[in-house]
Formats: sequence, C-alpha cells, structure tokens
Amino acid sequence: MAKINDYIKIVGEDIIEELKILSERLKGKVIQNINSTSVGGGVAEILNRIVPLMNELGVDTRWDLIKGGERFFNITKRFHNTLHGIPAEISDEEFDYFLQVENENAQAINFYGDVILIHDPQPIGLINRKKDFGNNKKWIWRCHIDISHPEIKVWDFLKQFINSYDASIFSAPVFSKELPIKQFLISPSIDPLSDKNKELDASTIDSVLYKYKITKDKPIITQISRYDILKDPLGVIDAFKLVRKHIDCQLILAGNTATDDPEHDKVLNMVKEKAGNDSDIHILVIEPANNDIEINALQRASDIVLQKSLKEGFGLTVSEALWKKKPVIAGAVGGIPLQITHKHSGILTHTVEGTAYWIKQLINSPEYAKKLGLNGHEHIKNNFLLTRHILEYFLLFTSLYHSGDIIHLN
Ligand code: UDP
Repeated sequence: MAKINDYIKIVGEDIIEELKILSERLKGKVIQNINSTSVGGGVAEILNRIVPLMNELGVDTRWDLIKGGERFFNITKRFHNTLHGIPAEISDEEFDYFLQVENENAQAINFYGDVILIHDPQPIGLINRKKDFGNNKKWIWRCHIDISHPEIKVWDFLKQFINSYDASIFSAPVFSKELPIKQFLISPSIDPLSDKNKELDASTIDSVLYKYKITKDKPIITQISRYDILKDPLGVIDAFKLVRKHIDCQLILAGNTATDDPEHDKVLNMVKEKAGNDSDIHILVIEPANNDIEINALQRASDIVLQKSLKEGFGLTVSEALWKKKPVIAGAVGGIPLQITHKHSGILTHTVEGTAYWIKQLINSPEYAKKLGLNGHEHIKNNFLLTRHILEYFLLFTSLYHSGDIIHLN
C-alpha cells in the first residue's frame, strides 16, 4: 500500500508538508468513522484509502460499522431513493423499526472517538448518544448522496437527527440545505496509487479482457456501477443499441454489490433481460477478491466510459475514468458537473438520445475524445485526489476545536 511520501511525485511536496503540519494539530485526537458497509459503493472505497493514510500521518483514525439485517437495509435503501427524489412508500412501522435498529446500534457501539464522523443516513440516529458524553465529542454527519430534491417526509425525519450534530459535510454546493448547524463542502476523492487507479501494464489489461471474453477488435464502451436503477444501466443499453445501428461496438456493464444495497439482484435481472442474448453486451459481476485490478483494467481498456446516472452524490467512477485519461460521457446530475465541464473535460448529457449522439461523436473523433480525457485527468489531479480530501478533513477537525475565525498553523 502506498505511503504518504509516495504522493509527492503526483501532488508535489507542499501539500504533503501541509498535511504533516496539520496532522500535528490533531495529535491525541481519535477520529471514529461509522458507516454501514465495508465493501461496495463509494463510501467504503474512500474510507479504505483515507483511514490508513490518516493513521500514517499520525492522526489516530478508525472505522466501525453499524449492524442491520435485510429489513433495515430495505428501509434505508428507500430512504436513499426518496432522498434522491424517487418516490417510495415508507410506513410508520418502518420508521419505528429504523429507530429500533438505530437504538440497538447506539447501545452496542463503543464511542471512543473524539470526532465521530457518521456517514450517510443509515447510522444517522447514533447521534442520540451525544447527550451521554457532554461536549467532549464532536459529532459530524457526512452526507455522500444527492439531496438536491429530497422527498420532504424522509428529509424532515432525518433533519431531527441532523440538527443535533455539531457540523455536516456535503459533497457539492448544490446539496447544501438550510440547517441550524455548520455546513462544510468537501468533495470525495480517488487514490491515484490504489489498485483501482494505479498504472497497469498491457498484459494485465489483456488478461482481464481475455478472462471475460472481450476482444479488442471494436470500440469498447463501459459503465462501472452497482446495479442500481439510479445509475441507469437500462438507459445505457438503450443508448448503446442506438449507437450500434450505425457503428459496430461493444458494451461492458460491470458492477458488484454493496452489503447495504438490497436491490442488486432485481436490477441485475432487469439488465440481463434488456440485453437479451446480444453477444456484444458484456454484463459482469466482479468477484470482490479481484475487483480493484479488474475494474482498473476494464476502465483502461475502454474507448469511452459512461456514467449515465439519473442521480449521483459524486460518482467516483467519473474521477477514476478521467484519471485514466478516458473520455467520459455522464449524466449532468448531482456531483458529476463538479468533475466534468461540458466539452472540456468530458461530456454531460440528459437523455438516452444525447448519450448515443455523443458516443457516436467521440468514436468518430478520436483526437477530440483524447483531448477530453487529457483535460479531465488534469482536473482530477488538481481537485479530486485523496491528499486534498484529507487536508480538508484535517482543517475541518481543527476548526471544530477552535473558536476564532483564523487558525494559525505555525
Ligand atoms: N465499483 C467497484 N466494482 C464494481 C462497481 C463499482 O469497485 O463492480 C466501485 C467504483 O469503482 C467506485 C465505487 O465502487 O469506486 C462506486 O462509487 P460511486 O461514487 O461511483 O457510486 P456509489 O456506489 O457510491 O453510488
């Protein structure tokens, strides 16, 4: 695993120096992250990389999980969907059941942290334990999802918890809400040196293509995502079929599952049904053990990467593909426009037809596609690498212990 100094060659010495200075300010504090899954999805992806590096910098950072069964995650998945503005029924009994599981977790978890960083709605109710610790701990709610147009009932339900936190973090300015607590805007990040993003040699890429029986004789268009309706895998297939009327090409849809996402099997079946027996559509479910290198290889093997989301908190897959200098065509939703400036560092679309149009354009204009990928790489390098993310976390934690406006770092 990469060490902090390994990042100097990518981001420069200054930012690593700043991280070291700031980490001194947090010596003795314990940062306790809590979320609902250690595998699958963007939150786990980020914590897996950020937690070890923060520790290496000398900031004691740990990570705990809440427990919840099928019924609980069924309810929280509907929270997730309604927060994204997709209607879903949640009964009073289900709200009660959610509270019951929150209470069980609140009793079972050892709150040893000085800063308790709670990720997303699933563990949000742990804040009920705040009163047991006086002012000794700082409680932060870190929202990773697109809450620009939430359904009001669920948002109001969650707000009663959010209001008790010391601070909140959102990924993009469009998500900020009227809240009585401090709000910070910190966007997610990727790790350029992880197995998911590091350089790969051609033979590794070829062996992954060989494993999945994908040939290189025609353009490869790829979307990497959990099988979730909001990632619009069905729209991706529609767009692909429109393109293929004109250009011979192939589509890869690759996804895994997150233990807190119960809709995976249902959506995967819908995707398979829609694809039928089209041998140019490769529907993959990547084994966890091989996941990172294989996703990396599939992204690198692609001519075009799609992220045709209908709603998106941030969309790490966009940064991952841009980092690999790939032209990306993505839905103009949520955190994606932070990563893509239309026609400069990628393409933003709103419809199946628009996506199909741009796939054709980019296949027919490889130089333009290359330029988009190069610009995208530069943008990710300057804005969305994990060193910036850790720096912003450190500044935020420091600010919680500081009452004035200005923090002197030396
Ligand atoms: N991912 C993966 N394997 C898969 C599908 C997705 O490792 O089969 C990763 C993907 O590379 C990205 C993360 O899961 O790092 C998804 O994060 P994103 O922000 O794109 O979406 P989320 O799942 O959090 O909604």
